[in-house]
Amino acid sequence: MILVRNATAKQPCPCGCGQRLDAFEGEAEIRGQRLSFAVQMRDHGEDGRVAWLAVLTGPWLAGDGTDGAWVTLRARVHEGSLQTRTVDPESSPFREVLGPRPLHAISSGDVLARPGARDYFAEMALTLCREPEIYAFLVGRAE
Ligand SMILES: [Zn+2]
Repeated sequence: MILVRNATAKQPCPCGCGQRLDAFEGEAEIRGQRLSFAVQMRDHGEDGRVAWLAVLTGPWLAGDGTDGAWVTLRARVHEGSLQTRTVDPESSPFREVLGPRPLHAISSGDVLARPGARDYFAEMALTLCREPEIYAFLVGRAE
């Protein structure tokens, strides 16, 4: 369930193509935990319509010296079904958005290595993709 949703703003595509991406941030709750998130909706080349999701957690490892960690996912609708997967943050458009913050970026390998983490973040991605603007974008009903 999305608890807080900031207004959608345009952000420049980090690749320099000049495209302006719809993006917003907020907070969502799953399994009784409240997590911050950021989303960018990007329709780009062969990738097509992809919602890029950054989910901000507390520290990934106890005492790791960070303010928290962020996990990156991408979501798309392919042949009518929603697909989400955890990806390495370097492949996402979030580097410039979240890079300056004192946060630890979690690789997809880190997520897969922690029991239950992949399912947990997949559930978060599904929660976010039910948000009407994101869903409309993914199925091509935006604009
Ligand atoms: Zn671009």
